[in-house]
Amino acid sequence: MHDRLAAAYGPQHWWPADAPFEVVLGAYLTQNTSWMAVERSLANLRAAGALTVEGLRALPLEELRRLIQPSGFHTRKAPALKAFVAMLDEEFGGSLERLGAVPTLALRHRLLALPSVGPETADALLLYALGHAVPVADEYLRRIVERHGLVTPAPGRNRKGYEALVGLTREGFALDPAKEHARLYNEFHALTVAVGKAHCRRTANCEGCPLAGDLTLTEKTGRRGS
Ligand code: SF4
Repeated sequence: MHDRLAAAYGPQHWWPADAPFEVVLGAYLTQNTSWMAVERSLANLRAAGALTVEGLRALPLEELRRLIQPSGFHTRKAPALKAFVAMLDEEFGGSLERLGAVPTLALRHRLLALPSVGPETADALLLYALGHAVPVADEYLRRIVERHGLVTPAPGRNRKGYEALVGLTREGFALDPAKEHARLYNEFHALTVAVGKAHCRRTANCEGCPLAGDLTLTEKTGRRGS
């Protein structure tokens, strides 16, 4: 899947952010919303000088809520971002580098204990902000895996289903050199989002999809096209 998608779409250059802390902000803000909405919130934060740890720390909670309103769920996301910065300050001297130096499993555990951080957000933070080689799964990958019958039973929208998806991704790249894993996980997640947006939406449009040749469909795909 990776090779077919890479041939079709080329390098994805994820994550779309200039600095690791921007990735942190984006990973929280993108929960349950589109990236276009996230960009409006990030633009507000940029104008307020709050795209850094220092900037966000200095921002009153009410003001943060107002600035991130475009990406929705601001009453939950604003305190969650403040909790991330508080953890960074209290346990890691405000340093993302020191946070990133924690071993992967312990770090994942710590991130999952934060408010509003589920496995997808934790893994996105680990991979894209903190440079750890962990796969990230999302609803697009879940749909592709289900529609292609790659895991039985099909992974549900729950913690167990999520872990099945990242486990499958790990297996898929198991024969690649370990030093390539972070790059491959990064690219694979970005590519599945690309094909998900272009073709594998709530109703699949398989016509012209780079993965259509791999398809062994069951009736429940609801696909259209080839
Ligand atoms: S759109 Fe069709 S071929 Fe493409 S990934 Fe989804 S189910 Fe597979």
